[in-house]
Amino acid sequence: MSSFTKDALKDALRAVTAPGAEGGLIEAQGVEWAAACDGHASVRLHLPQCTGEDQYRSVSDKAAEAIAKKAQNLGQPLESLLIEFVDHAGTVLFTAKAGRPDAESKDAAPAEPKPAPSAAASPGHRPIPGLRDRTPLPQAPKPPASTPAARAPTPQASSSGLPGVKHAIAVGAGKGGVGKSAVAVNLAVGLARQGHAVGLLDGDIYGPSAPTMLALDAMEQVVHDGQLQPYLVHGIKAITIGKLVDPEKPLIWRGPMAHGAFKQLTEQTHWGELDYLIIDLPPGTGDVPLTMAQTLKLTGAVIVCTPQKVAQDDAVRAARMFQQLGVEILGVVENMSYFVADDIDPPRTYDIFGRGGAQKMAQRLGLPFLAEIPITPALRQNSDQGDPTANFEGAAPLRQALETMVQNLENQVALASLRQGTTRPTLTIS
Ligand code: ADP
Repeated sequence: MSSFTKDALKDALRAVTAPGAEGGLIEAQGVEWAAACDGHASVRLHLPQCTGEDQYRSVSDKAAEAIAKKAQNLGQPLESLLIEFVDHAGTVLFTAKAGRPDAESKDAAPAEPKPAPSAAASPGHRPIPGLRDRTPLPQAPKPPASTPAARAPTPQASSSGLPGVKHAIAVGAGKGGVGKSAVAVNLAVGLARQGHAVGLLDGDIYGPSAPTMLALDAMEQVVHDGQLQPYLVHGIKAITIGKLVDPEKPLIWRGPMAHGAFKQLTEQTHWGELDYLIIDLPPGTGDVPLTMAQTLKLTGAVIVCTPQKVAQDDAVRAARMFQQLGVEILGVVENMSYFVADDIDPPRTYDIFGRGGAQKMAQRLGLPFLAEIPITPALRQNSDQGDPTANFEGAAPLRQALETMVQNLENQVALASLRQGTTRPTLTIS
C-alpha cells in the first residue's frame, strides 16, 4: 500500500502559507477536505481571507509543489492533483489541477491547470479494445433527402460543439438520490417518443444508472472503426461511463479520471445526428460536474430537486453553478412531489415531502418549472427492470407528469434556441 496517504498530504500542506492566514494551511484551518489514493490527491481549501485569481493561483502553486515533493520523497509519484477553493456554502471558486504529464516524468507538478491524465492511461480505467486514444471528432454524414422525418433531425446548425448534435442538455442535481438519473432517462425516452433523434450520455461517475435503468448490464460495449458505438435501446442511443470505469474503485479514485473518461464518451462516441443529447451529470457542484458541464457547449441544463427544504438549498447551489458557467437553466423538475394511493376508491393523494417546494424555489429564482413527478412504485420497478418505456404506457399520474415534463422542455429549448440565436423563426403562409 502507498505511504502517500491523507496524513502525508496534510503534512505537506502544513508549511504552505496563504495571504492573510495565520501560520500554515492546517493551522489556519483552511483545509476542508483532503484525500489521497494510489498517487491521486484531492484537496479542498476554504480561505475566506484569499480573494482573486492571483491569490488562489499563488496558494495552489505552493501547495502543488509541496505535495508533489512529499509524494516523491515517499516514493509515490503524484499522478494527479486537484485543488479546489470553496466559499462557506461549498461553491467552488477556483480550481487548479496538476499531474504527471507522462508516466516517466519525476518532476514536481506545477499547479497551472492541466488536463487530467488521459482516461486511457489511468489505472482503474477499463480499457476498451479498439478505441483510439485521440480520435478526431466524427463528421456525421447528412441523412439522404429521402430519410423519413421520424428519428431524422431537422437540419439546423449544431449548437452543442459536437458535430451533428443539435442540443446538448445537462441534467444536474444538488445532491444524489433525488431522481436525477430517472429524470434524465425518462426525458430522453419521452423526447424520442415525440419523434426526435435522442442520445443519452450517462456521465454520473459516482453512480452510473444507465446500465440498470436501460438494462445494458449484459451488453458489451462495441467499438467500431475506433469509435464507441452507442447502445440502441428504447428508441434512443445510449452510452454510459459505467462501462469505462471500474465500479469497485473508490470514489476518490474515480474523480480524477472522470474528465478523461467523459471526454472520451462525448467525443469518441459515434452519435450520428441527434436533435437532443441528454447528459446525466454527477450530483453536486464539485469539480467533476463543473468540469463536465464546461466540456460541452450546452443549450441548457435541467435541475432535479425533491420538495424538501434541504434538497432545495442544494438545488439552489446547482443552479448557481450553471449560471456562473453561463449555462441557461431550462427548468426545474420537482421529483417525488406527491404520492397517489390508487388502491382505495376514490384514489387519495398524499403530500409526503412538501409538494410544491421545488416549484416555489424555481419561482423565487425566476427559473421555468417543468413538472412535478409523483413518487410511484411503478417508476422504481420499471427503472430497476430497465424498462423506461413502460412509464409512458402505464397509469395516468406518472405518464401525464412525464409527458408534461417532455413537452415543457421542448418549449424551453425552442425559446432558448431563439435567445441564443441558433434557430431563426420561420413564417409560414398558407
Ligand atoms: P439520482 O440520480 O439523483 O441519484 P436516481 O434517479 O438514481 O437518483 O433515483 C434513485 C432511486 O429512486 C432509483 O431507484 C429510482 O428508480 C428511484 N426513483 C426516482 N424517482 C422516483 C419516483 N418519482 N418514484 C419512485 N421511485 C423513484
